[in-house]
Order: sequence, then structure tokens, then C-alpha cells
Amino acid sequence: MSQITVRLDQLRKYNVPGPRYTSYPPATHFTEAPSIPKPQASSPLSLYFHLPFCSSQCLYCGCTNIVTGDQGKSAIYLGYLEREIKMRAQYIAEGSDVVQIQLGGGTPTFLLPEEIEQLGKMIRTNFPMASTIEAGVEIDPRGLTPEKVRALRKAGFNRASLGVQDTNADVQKTIARIQPLEKVAEANQWLRDSGMESINFDLIYGLPGQTVESFSQTIDDVLMLSPDRFAVYSYAHIPWIKPFQKSFEEQLPDVETKLQLLQLAIEKLTGAGYVYIGMDHFAKPDDAMSAALFNGTLQRNFQGYSTLKGVDLHGMGMSSISHVDGRYLQNKKELEAYYADLDAGRLPLLRGYVMTAEDQIRYGAIMHIMCNLYIDYAQASEQLDLDFAEYFKADIASLDDLEADGLVRRETGGLHVTPLGRLFVRIIAMRFDPAIQSGQPKGRYSQTV
Ligand code: SF4
Repeated sequence: MSQITVRLDQLRKYNVPGPRYTSYPPATHFTEAPSIPKPQASSPLSLYFHLPFCSSQCLYCGCTNIVTGDQGKSAIYLGYLEREIKMRAQYIAEGSDVVQIQLGGGTPTFLLPEEIEQLGKMIRTNFPMASTIEAGVEIDPRGLTPEKVRALRKAGFNRASLGVQDTNADVQKTIARIQPLEKVAEANQWLRDSGMESINFDLIYGLPGQTVESFSQTIDDVLMLSPDRFAVYSYAHIPWIKPFQKSFEEQLPDVETKLQLLQLAIEKLTGAGYVYIGMDHFAKPDDAMSAALFNGTLQRNFQGYSTLKGVDLHGMGMSSISHVDGRYLQNKKELEAYYADLDAGRLPLLRGYVMTAEDQIRYGAIMHIMCNLYIDYAQASEQLDLDFAEYFKADIASLDDLEADGLVRRETGGLHVTPLGRLFVRIIAMRFDPAIQSGQPKGRYSQTV
């Protein structure tokens, strides 16, 4: 991909707050929790488990986590998680099989090796498993040990995602995440040797102190380790939720530099042979994620992109979000409240949302844009059971300025997101979101660049 030129006026125009569309409607629309449905028809299942504990606080972090030096907390948490798992398993339709598992956090590898194995057993004894499963885990290289890697493999995990973020020592100091490259290389080697099928590295652009030169070096450093995938996330500055992010506000790169960092990542990673997937993912051509992009089964969810489409997502653990049968459900975000509900024999639900028929249609359109970067009107009409071009006439017509600026290309049969438009794909999706277009968005969002 050659260097794309973005005019400064375009950058200013399109760098506005907007949803990341890991769900539609975004989680800011959630209100009181609906009842959890037990679908009649069987469906493939994806399970997410939130493990909230971390040993220290990284200052860029936007996750729902709990920093503790008390290792004993994870055993108590697992006890409660097991209760939730047993309750949740009652809501699985007959004949449904788990095809995907993801451990996120927090730091899942905060768990002791025996706790990792215990969690694996818990999952497998309570849910029906498909014969082939993608089981992924987010890993903080700083606390990883060969024993934990062995436990993960024993528990059936075959995909690992390493939080790398940036290899520059000064940047690491500012974000309070000191992690020498040797530590990442060592963790990567343990995971490779253990037979993990796919290894992902997370990087973040827009961190305090990052420059084009320093981030270029970061990418060169990590390319040497040849992971199967990269997720290159935009740093989300949300100090109204995470006040500790204010500590480095003055050192954040300006918006032009931030966009240059993304362009640099695209150039270097595609130059090294990775396929550019959606807005922030890259994968080797033979990786399952590239295959999912080519055969149109890529899906966006709360963990970013997923290779599976049409699955029910059951989230367990504090703050996790489920998407089952057209309903979103989010668990309590405070540990005490989460434990109290389970003590009382209740599912620990905080809030949620029942999608309307229109939401389902708009969800389909937005996922097409975010995942496929293209909408084939005939195909989308068939999938959504309507005349797509007619239904979205006003939304498509509203793209005049985006087309003039080169972000999209409209044809009679479909809508293309251009290479320039990829950098602003959230802006394009926002044109199909009536809450944003009405000028009355619910809640606050991070900037789109
Ligand atoms: S970035 Fe990861 S390890 Fe750091 S505080 Fe957040 S959840 Fe914990």
C-alpha cells in the first residue's frame, strides 16, 4: 500500500468523537438489563471470560481491571466465575456447540498455572464443545512463565495475543509498562515452542512520546519476531473515565503525527507481506483471519475482529458483554456487586439492550463497512431481506462529501471504502448511525483518529 496523502482540512474535519462499533448500537445505548433469552434454535457459540486482575496499572489502559498484589484474589474470583458459568450453561439452546473461546482482562495470565487448568476444565465440563475450537488468550509477557504456557496448552488454548504496545524505553516509562523486547521475544518463543497455532501482537499508536522514528523502530523490532497477526490499535484518550491518562496529556502526539503513525504501520506491515484486515488488524496471508476476510466471514465484536460470523457471544466475568439472539447484556462492573448477585443466586447483569428490527438491519450495514470495506447491494439485500439501496437511500445520499474527499466510491451496485477511507472507516459507518446523524449521540466517545 503506497503512502496515502491526507489533507490537513480533511484530518480536522474527520477527527471527531465517534463509536468504535464493536457493537451496534454502541454500549452507550444500553439501559436496564433485559432478561437473558434461551434461543430455540441451536447456534455456534463464542464464549468470553473476563479475568480482571493486573499486577500493576499501565497508564494508557482503558480496560475494566483491578490492580492487586494479592494473588489469592484469583482463586476467589474463579469460584464465583464457576457459579456464573453453571448458571449461563442453562441458557444454551439444545444442539449448540462452542466454536470459540477468548480469555481477556485485565491480565488472564495473572492466574496461577493450576488456576488456568482449572478454568479450562470448568469451561469444558459445562459447555458442549465443537471438535475444532479457536481458543485465544490475551497475554502480558511480563508475568508469563513456561509453566503458565504449559497450563494454557493443557487447558486447550491454541491462540495467543501478546500485549506489546511499543518497544521504546521512554514511551514504556511514560505509560508505566516497562517491558524489554527480550521479554517479548522470550514469551513469543515459549508460545511458539508450545505449539500455539496463531500468535498475535498488539501495538498501540498515539501513545505519549511516540514519534514517527520511534514507532518505526518499534515495528522493525516486532517484525523480527514474525507473529502471525498484528492488531495496531489507536490509543483511546478517555480521561473522563480513566483520570490517570491525564498524567501524560501534554506528551500525546498531535493528530497529524498520530495519523502518520497509522500510515507508517500500514506501509511497513503490508510491505512485510501482512494483509491489512479492516481498520486495525493485519495477518499473514495464510492466517485464518486473512481467509475470513477473503470469504466474507469476518465479524467485529467486543474483542475486535473475529473470524466467525453468526455466533452467539456469551460473556462471563465482571463487566463482560454478551450478544445473544439480538440482545446485548452486560455484567456488573464492580467486583463486589458481581459477587453479591452470584451469592444471591442471580445472574450478575447490569444493563443491556434489545435490538429492534431496524437495529438488526443497521448492524448488518455497519458490519459490512467495518469488516468487508465494501457493500454489494444485491448480496446485502438478500442477507437483510430488503432492497438495500432503497432502504438506505438517504444514508447513501449523505455520502456526497465523503465521496468528494475520496473516502468512498459509490457505484450502482455497491459502495466501496477506498484506501483513504480505511483510515476513517468509523466516519463512514457513522453515516449509517441515526443517533450520530441526529446530532444527539448517547454518551461520549474517543476521537476517530
Ligand atoms: S493494559 Fe493490560 S496489563 Fe496493563 S493495566 Fe490494562 S489490563 Fe492490566
